[in-house]
Amino acid sequence: MFIDKQYIQDTLAAAENTPDAAITAILDKAEAMQGLTHKEIAALLACDSPAQLQRIFDIAGQIKRHIYGNRIVMFAPLYVSDYCVNKCTYCSYNCGHSFGRRKLTMDEVRAEVIELEKMGHKRLALEAGEHDKECPLDYVIDCIKTIYDMKFENGEIRRVNVNIAATTVENYQCLQAAGIGTYILFQETYDKDVYENVHISGPKKDYAYHLTAFDRAMEGGIDDVGAGVLFGLSDPYLEVMGLMLHNEHLEERFGVGFHTISVPRLCRAEGMDMSAFPNLVDDAAFEKVVAVIRLAVPFTGLILSTREDHDMREKLLKIGVSQLSAGSSTEVGGYIKRATQEESMSQFKVNDERTAPEIIAELLDDGYIPSFCTACYRSGRTGDRFMSLAKSGQIKNVCLPNALMTLCEYAMDYGDEAFRTKTKAAIMANADNIGNEQVRVQTLANVDKIMNSGERDFFL
Ligand code: SF4
Ligand code: SF4
Repeated sequence: MFIDKQYIQDTLAAAENTPDAAITAILDKAEAMQGLTHKEIAALLACDSPAQLQRIFDIAGQIKRHIYGNRIVMFAPLYVSDYCVNKCTYCSYNCGHSFGRRKLTMDEVRAEVIELEKMGHKRLALEAGEHDKECPLDYVIDCIKTIYDMKFENGEIRRVNVNIAATTVENYQCLQAAGIGTYILFQETYDKDVYENVHISGPKKDYAYHLTAFDRAMEGGIDDVGAGVLFGLSDPYLEVMGLMLHNEHLEERFGVGFHTISVPRLCRAEGMDMSAFPNLVDDAAFEKVVAVIRLAVPFTGLILSTREDHDMREKLLKIGVSQLSAGSSTEVGGYIKRATQEESMSQFKVNDERTAPEIIAELLDDGYIPSFCTACYRSGRTGDRFMSLAKSGQIKNVCLPNALMTLCEYAMDYGDEAFRTKTKAAIMANADNIGNEQVRVQTLANVDKIMNSGERDFFL
């Protein structure tokens, strides 16, 4: 197996003695955006001098600015079913927790999607608990089709990423055929002992089956996979090492590693006893692990969910995070409930309660370009095709124009006059950063069509 806890612990222990000169060489390599091996990552995790930590944060910021610029890709989760046969101690949807469970009918999926489209979202992460009877794959595929078909006014969902339980190669082939974007699955923890403790019962308890899900997904033809761990279950350094060894395994076997890594941190949920989790990660350690991941895999998108509050989001955006959720509900039917002001019962507590327009306007005020781009998946730039463009630096030649055009759409369809004025100024200022003159002229021509002719959906 490509994850061996003892090996990780031994590697972390050995890295404690890394000489300063070797750390400097690793940081120089990271600064050149060459990515790092898991042994080099172990050495950086062992760094604790203020000077070394500062250089790690400085390089993380440089990589973020160089590869991702000031663009932040926006998305929202859509929970379609909270039926679950698993008993995960950190999740309020676990089967030991009693509440009125439900799954959305297709009419309800359409209603939820309308609410998300009204917020301007173009990219969703479909989320469902594991339940073969109540939530079989056919139901998930119906949901995907319904989401893609549902168009409200100028709104449409152009990319559906899917986060469902580990499954078979055949089922992954069906998901791929349904046109999913990224297949997302969190390992939760790479620490097998902790994994078995926190997964009390259900199919998810099988560590090896869960760990090898991306192998089956890739065998089934899915080439964009999104990983994640739930920081707070075990030693965060062990988790970072697990992520990196998993990534190296996929690169060796399939030629491409993770498309994205999500960095959720354990937070309070209904029915959870927080004292049962002795490995909670404090803010300083959390910022360090995010920065080290940024250095380790510079071309892998880093995703932050609604769990973090505004201040932490701000810090992490500067050192690595490239995708954010906004206006999220983590409840089945939560968007309609919010629209009708019903009381909710979510999977976990959302710390950033601001609405999507508030978050998007604030990002713009802070100098970021909120992007609703979904172009790569729709242009066939996935898997190793995407990674080779990303590693050569060419991808940013399309990211910025696409960000400006999709932000312009958002402003015209969902912004008020003040937001449109700010957006126009931001587009004009940022268009100067499009290196290719022909692309810059084309982008501005498309922006003009979006603003003045009502045309939509331009992408490169
Ligand atoms: Fe079910 Fe997922 Fe929650 Fe575990 S984390 S109880 S599998 S919904
Ligand atoms: Fe993401 Fe591709 Fe759009 Fe860039 S062009 S923001 S990589 S989808």
